[in-house]
Amino acid sequence: MPSIAKAYIATSATSALQPGVIERRDPEEFDVRIAIKFTGICHSDIHTARGDWASVNFPVVLGHEISGIVEAVGAKVTRHAVGDRVGVGCFVDSCRECVNCLSGEEQYCLAGSVSTYNSVGRDGRPTAGGYCTSIVVDENYVLRIPEGIPLEAAAPLLCAGITVYSPLRNRGEGPGKRVAIIGMGGLGHMGVKIATALGAEVTVLSQSLRKQEDALRFGAVACHATSDPATFSRHQGYFDVIINTVSADIDVDQYLSLLALDGTLVIVGLPSKPLTQRAWSLAGFRRNLAGSKMGGIRQTQEMLDFCAAHGLGAEVEVIPASKIDEAFDRVVDSAVRYRFVIDAATF
Ligand code: NAP
Ligand code: ZN
Ligand code: ZN
Repeated sequence: MPSIAKAYIATSATSALQPGVIERRDPEEFDVRIAIKFTGICHSDIHTARGDWASVNFPVVLGHEISGIVEAVGAKVTRHAVGDRVGVGCFVDSCRECVNCLSGEEQYCLAGSVSTYNSVGRDGRPTAGGYCTSIVVDENYVLRIPEGIPLEAAAPLLCAGITVYSPLRNRGEGPGKRVAIIGMGGLGHMGVKIATALGAEVTVLSQSLRKQEDALRFGAVACHATSDPATFSRHQGYFDVIINTVSADIDVDQYLSLLALDGTLVIVGLPSKPLTQRAWSLAGFRRNLAGSKMGGIRQTQEMLDFCAAHGLGAEVEVIPASKIDEAFDRVVDSAVRYRFVIDAATF
């Protein structure tokens, strides 16, 4: 018998989210049913809900930063047990056979990983995310949340945390490296904390100095305003890596100019318009332009364990479901400090 979950549902790009109910399949042999406790509001939820990106199949239940407790398991589940603290991120399945899946990079599955929402699951039904009270997911795509991280602070790690951890870790950022983070929102503030814990020297490039005090508290050595032209003239050629987490258009050439020889600008922010840059900005100092998307299951678990070991979690403002639309507006205005998390008891 499928179970019923209470949810908040996006029905069109122009209307407010609506309370309602959805069906969840009964756990199959390898499935875990999770009682959701908290779901983070990622800017990708807003891009999707507001039609910034193409191909949204409304109605859709958003949410891919999920933390909760296992409440039922299928007969063959071995990785998780009832009562465990667990999380689900941006994808809930993949082909498990392609070269990327086999190397633990399921987010780059060549057959297309199954997104937690706005995708079609193996059961042939649309996937529905975490803006609801429960979710059923194959055990291989469910993460363990270590005891040390409160569930509300853990939820945003499942997308924001791993999306910044992955490029920092894959590139070996650490002691002796100069890292800059553009945009201190959900992803950006975790980028500051994680890069600092990895041992790098971290600088925040924010629109203004309003978040400077927090940036320094999270471990940054400096915060510069990108609205001040002196930021760009003073720090030419300085950084080894710059992670761009901005959800809107940026002047790519301006940021490339801040990179040292062989430095890399990693794009993780996903505005709807194409990015442009001059060839000379790259060729002139042998610079690189790169991108990165979330992280695989193995690396996501590594990130959660790393955060627990370093006492890291997201800075959250817990809200009831009735405030989601208001929260969306505040995120778009860069006025969130630093992640809204929905209390699932209020759906
Ligand atoms: P967020 O909380 O809204 O943070 C974005 C930050 O960018 C803001 O806090 C702000 O920081 C800065 N910003 C916003 N508008 C700006 C503008 N017009 N000009 C300059 N700076 C601006 O969003 P998020 O949840 O961290 O997500 C950020 C982006 O990453 C989104 O596009 C999202 O879809 C994408 N994303 C990508 C992946 C991936 O796998 N690649 C995963 C998750 C999210 P300041 O106030 O400090 O300037
Ligand atoms: Zn996300
Ligand atoms: Zn695959």
